[in-house]
Amino acid sequence: MAIVEREPSAQQQQIDVENPATGAVVRSVPILSAEEVRTLAERGRAAQPAWEALGFEGRARVLRRAQKWVLDHRERLIETIVSETGKTHEDALLAEIGYVGNAFGFWAKNAPEYLADEKVRSANPFVLGRKLVVRYAPLGLVGVIGPWNYPLSNSFGDCIPALAAGNAVILKPSEVTPLTSLLMAEAMRECGLPDGIYQVATGLGETGQAVIDEVDMVMFTGSTATGKKVMERAARTLTPVSLELGGKDPMIVLADADLERAANAATYYSMQNGGQTCISVERAYVEAPVYDAFVAKVTQKVKALRQGAPAGPGSVDVGAITFPKQLDIVSGHVDAARSAGATVLTGGHARTESGRFYEPTVLVDVDHSMACMTEETFGPTLPIMRVNDAEEAVKLANDSPYGLGASVWTSDVTRGEALARRIEAGAVCVNDAQVNYLALELPMGGWKSSGLGSRHGAGGIRKYTRQQSLLVTRLAPKRDLHMFPYKAKTTGLLGRAMKLLYGRGKRD
Ligand code: NDP
Repeated sequence: MAIVEREPSAQQQQIDVENPATGAVVRSVPILSAEEVRTLAERGRAAQPAWEALGFEGRARVLRRAQKWVLDHRERLIETIVSETGKTHEDALLAEIGYVGNAFGFWAKNAPEYLADEKVRSANPFVLGRKLVVRYAPLGLVGVIGPWNYPLSNSFGDCIPALAAGNAVILKPSEVTPLTSLLMAEAMRECGLPDGIYQVATGLGETGQAVIDEVDMVMFTGSTATGKKVMERAARTLTPVSLELGGKDPMIVLADADLERAANAATYYSMQNGGQTCISVERAYVEAPVYDAFVAKVTQKVKALRQGAPAGPGSVDVGAITFPKQLDIVSGHVDAARSAGATVLTGGHARTESGRFYEPTVLVDVDHSMACMTEETFGPTLPIMRVNDAEEAVKLANDSPYGLGASVWTSDVTRGEALARRIEAGAVCVNDAQVNYLALELPMGGWKSSGLGSRHGAGGIRKYTRQQSLLVTRLAPKRDLHMFPYKAKTTGLLGRAMKLLYGRGKRD
């Protein structure tokens, strides 16, 4: 299960993991070659059958131990997550420890039901009396490739259902946040996971490619651009992929909304985790009658946010920008909008004196000619646009290549749900945002350029399996009617039977 069988030395290629909030190098990890990934794959494949043979109960015992480990060691985990992401203590506790703590128990409990044999009945008389069963068998070796924004929930979190289903897993974490995945290797070993069942392949994009080449299925979370490359690479070996990609989640605020709640939510769900959440509120459309009041409330709340290097619980509200290039993207979107006529009501600057930060920012006078309204910004920014009515808001919400999440805010929940159904996104909340992600029973996956497949729910674990159909015949004649030799009389009989079964409908 260990990854780094060798310590990085000066000669070896290695990644220096940096704390984005301070600029200090935390630790170095090796860049694994394709050959080393192959060795991990061989080890994983050799270990997997025994893990599968443990059955749901045996595997659940390990997962439940790991659940306890995560909570018992949460301070150490939070410290590691904060050190490599620069996120706040609370962002690490709520969205990472909280998610994985829940997920271990959820998959331990629900895997047996989601993957239970299903007895099927067929209406076709030609298979009458046969036993028909669908079963879900683990794929073998699953490759999880993860992003940097949630090293525990989005990278490691996807390993949990894969493990619960009986697979061995190789996790390729983002080059900027590999430490949490490595700590989880230590955790899983302590909790009794057999060697080779969870392995971490640290490295860059090439290491990710090598993982794709070796595994039986790829669970990828990351940008849409890389997701396409992953799918292309996987096509070479006809390896199935599940893709959780970028988003540009719209928030629609109607005139009858509880404005105080909507403003608090807009502030929180656009700035939480420094806006580096795939389902962050990335743009808001507000009906004209409440636009000014909404903008005033949000601006006041965003101005009050404290930003800086996290120094324990309650120290700051908004942390650092984790990925160096992301700062250029965020600055680029805001600067371009400003040049095109947008007004920055608060924030609007990068801060790099010590660490890497972007000020919490509110933009108005924006439109869809600007990247800040159409491309994923992935930073602590909220552009707000005035709309005449709900129709215009829905039209603008759908004017996007993305379709990950969305939210509608109104006191008329029936109307809110009707509007939600018209939004082209995999998950839409009414008077809420993001919390759908906590309901692991509810599938979460993107439409359009936001992904393929989903996580959570039955589909979130069945994707890590191969579906096998079984047909068992107990009692049967020596020769079925349709078997050789063909005879005109029997053919006529079968033809009449088909006419009787399928030919009685009307041709309207
Ligand atoms: P990237 O697409 O840049 O990278 C994701 C992972 O893919 C990293 O581990 C990366 O390695 C690896 N990788 C890069 N190139 C290749 C390749 N050619 N083959 C295989 N693997 C490769 O995403 P980010 O890390 O920048 O993450 C941010 C993105 O993730 C945002 O777009 C965000 O919306 C999305 N995301 C989506 C979520 C969802 O559920 N839909 C959840 C969370 C984030 P390396 O880091 O070494 O380059």
